[in-house]
Amino acid sequence: MWHTQSIQQVVEKLKTDVDRGLTTEEIQKRLEKYGLNKWREQKAKSIWLMFFAQLKDALIYVLLGAVVITLFMGEYVDSIIIMLVILINASLGVIQEVKAGKAIAELQKLASPKALVKRNGSIEEVSTEALVPGDIVILETGRLIPADLRLLETINMQIEESALTGESVPVHKNSQSTLKDENSALGDRINLAYMSTLVTYGRGLGVVIATGEETEVGKIAEDINTNESKTPLEKRLDELGKLLGKLAVGVCSLIFMIGYFQGREVTELFLTAVSLAVASIPEGLAAIVAVVLSIGVTKMSKRNAIIKRLPAVETLGAVNIICTDKTGTLTQNKMKVSAFFTPTTGTAKLQEYAQQPQVKLLAKAMVLCSDATLNADKSSGDPTEIALLQFADNLKLDRETWNKTHKRTNELPFDATRKMMSVAIKNPEEKNIYTKGAVDRLLPKCTQVLLGDKVVALEENQRSAIEESIQNMSSHALRTLAVAYKPITNIPPEENWEEDLIFIGLVGMIDPPRTEVKPAIAKAAKAGITTIMITGDHKETAFAIAKQLGIAQDKTQAITGQELDAFGEDELIQNITNYRIFARVSPQHKVIIVKALQAAGNTVSMTGDGVNDAPSLSHADIGVAMGITGTDVSKGASDMILADDNFSTIVTAVEQGRNIYNNIKKSVLFLLTSNIGEVITMLVCILAGMPTPLIATQLLWINLITDSLPAIALGMDPDSDDVMQHKPRPPKESFFAHKQGWRILFGGLVIGAITISAYWFGFYEHGYSPFDSSIPDEVLSYARTMAFMSIISAQLFYSLAFRHYRQSIFQLGLFSNKYLVAAIVLGFLLQLLVLEVPVLRKAFKLQLLDGPGWLMALGMGLVPLLLNELLKAYSRIKSK
Ligand code: ATP
Repeated sequence: MWHTQSIQQVVEKLKTDVDRGLTTEEIQKRLEKYGLNKWREQKAKSIWLMFFAQLKDALIYVLLGAVVITLFMGEYVDSIIIMLVILINASLGVIQEVKAGKAIAELQKLASPKALVKRNGSIEEVSTEALVPGDIVILETGRLIPADLRLLETINMQIEESALTGESVPVHKNSQSTLKDENSALGDRINLAYMSTLVTYGRGLGVVIATGEETEVGKIAEDINTNESKTPLEKRLDELGKLLGKLAVGVCSLIFMIGYFQGREVTELFLTAVSLAVASIPEGLAAIVAVVLSIGVTKMSKRNAIIKRLPAVETLGAVNIICTDKTGTLTQNKMKVSAFFTPTTGTAKLQEYAQQPQVKLLAKAMVLCSDATLNADKSSGDPTEIALLQFADNLKLDRETWNKTHKRTNELPFDATRKMMSVAIKNPEEKNIYTKGAVDRLLPKCTQVLLGDKVVALEENQRSAIEESIQNMSSHALRTLAVAYKPITNIPPEENWEEDLIFIGLVGMIDPPRTEVKPAIAKAAKAGITTIMITGDHKETAFAIAKQLGIAQDKTQAITGQELDAFGEDELIQNITNYRIFARVSPQHKVIIVKALQAAGNTVSMTGDGVNDAPSLSHADIGVAMGITGTDVSKGASDMILADDNFSTIVTAVEQGRNIYNNIKKSVLFLLTSNIGEVITMLVCILAGMPTPLIATQLLWINLITDSLPAIALGMDPDSDDVMQHKPRPPKESFFAHKQGWRILFGGLVIGAITISAYWFGFYEHGYSPFDSSIPDEVLSYARTMAFMSIISAQLFYSLAFRHYRQSIFQLGLFSNKYLVAAIVLGFLLQLLVLEVPVLRKAFKLQLLDGPGWLMALGMGLVPLLLNELLKAYSRIKSK
């Protein structure tokens, strides 16, 4: 048993090398033997299963019933066509499902965690799937444990194992212990770390002992089923679809009853009513939304915004406040020490005092207190600490020797609440604790100060000199960091490490803003979105940068976490929107800020990267994690991951979110308008006592041509350049707001009216009227062909009208949505096919059109679009 064996035994058994890790050759062998480090995949649903799932629908049952009835009636052509419609509809559904599923799977891959390992003598980041037993894994705060590990080294390491044991209090781990009891509970095996649990504190090293299904969670993973549920939008549309379905069934029953009393033929009437129901129920709604969403999120991932939960896309369009970190998100995270201060030198620029002993000590203390590495061209670790190493190099000091001669015996890692870190150092000449951290946190812990080679009490004049220096550096947007020390004889208890310290000095680092951020903030502002900076940094530094970027103009817009604590709950909600900068906050403050902003009626996006950021990320309407610097914990709690850690990507994502939402809206409005057009045509003609203008098979065909490709193509409409000139959409706003409901009704009425006119023209052309008591069969089918052709051409042309609520199709560019143009052309070609190929013509009971017939059908088809253009022109003039 791994937990009862010593580190040496484990390492020998796994035939690995703790310093160099495994070799590529060995890894390959082990991969073949043990397989990938993942659980058996849930069997992908087979195409057939998906296909049959599509058939489980009340509507399809009715259609299947219709097939049986037509078979009995000997109307074999009708039964074949209805069956074809069922088949094609179900196949489209399957294609949509597969496509959406693929996109989601790709995204999941992008968002999946990585592990830091030693291999072939160097450190690399690999996909957790690629781990094999014997791999040496480096663990840090915020990392997910990537496989089951025997710990080799633990420095204050705590692991939260609730995913496995249900216990949410972190367990203190200890690599040095070997347990006696083979059967000790999982939670007691403090020298092991289990896959899927989280490092919440400290760091360490471990060797992989089990991967994939052999891990403790792997054994129980079969029950864990990640079932993506529908997004709120999909649910709302489902409900809408159901409502419309009921309405359609009502209307169709009405048509059936009226027809029955008018003495129409019952079976034909039944088929017509059923087909109308099928044609008017927007059964494709949810599927189309899924496809548009999946296409949209794939596009977003190419622009560095990885959507983890689909509902985020809709919420993005409603975001009106973006809360963002400073370091790395607004700034480049390329730190450089550009000034320093010690009580003996005062505030100084680099080279002036390079050889001054206290400056040397300042650099040495900073170096000893850093975990980063920096060689000629390669660096790793926290950019703040890399800058400190560079600082020593610039002073031409010998870091290597310090690191060799000063052994770190213990440490207290950095955390975002304390804003400090400490190390205990042992060397023949000294035994010290060094602490570095935020100056305003460290200074209160100092009781003495180093003045040259003397340690003296920290008096008020010294304190104000230090504060003045901080003020000076901060107002130049420098990020400040101080360092102190104290001699010890023995390692004191942790709570006593960071007190009674001796102040050495402080450094100021520049971290220039990212160039693309300022325009992005301006763009967001134009779109009605407020940017708020939430930072662990000093208020002055934060304000200086915020001002450069256009986030804040006045110092009164900045507040610290401490000042925030003084507010009562109501007072906070009332005042929260007055601030643009929250400085020196801890992760707990972030939750308070999000909640208050939400209570004040805002839709909030919040960024985060640390372990403690998870609560604020999950509270926010959109939690945004950093892809590069973010911990696995923060990524897990987020809705979206920024692959480039860049603020401007959030703004791009909001823009995309708005576009995707609009495109879905366009598809839905188009579908509803088309369906209303069909219902009106049928209802009016039957009520008026005319022969039914469209027969069952024709209705189904119309449904097939217009409800599929043009609707999807509208969902793929190119991004509109004016989406960021509007205020954010209120989160609960319905699709039918801004008179859209009326637009649908109007469009439906016009389509109905022109279809009926074309139908009537078909009779008129042959000297008949639809009300005549005896009409030859050819004339009736000619008139129906006219109705059939006009309604399809009207719907196909009219799809163009939905591309923008105000801009003309010419302003948008007639061909700028190539998919839609292709869908329209294809629709017409298919239409031509059923008309010109004799077998099909016969099957659909159509007649060849003559010249005037063609002209009328196409001309009429253009009417709704032209009317819409006129209305848009009017609305443009009015808005000017
Ligand atoms: P943001 O929250 O916008 O990313 P930040 O990086 O300044 O800004 P934190 O990382 O929470 O925020 O750091 C807060 C403060 O803690 C910093 O201003 C700095 O003074 C101090 N600090 C940062 N990194 C370290 C470190 N590695 N060791 C010691 N102190 C640090």
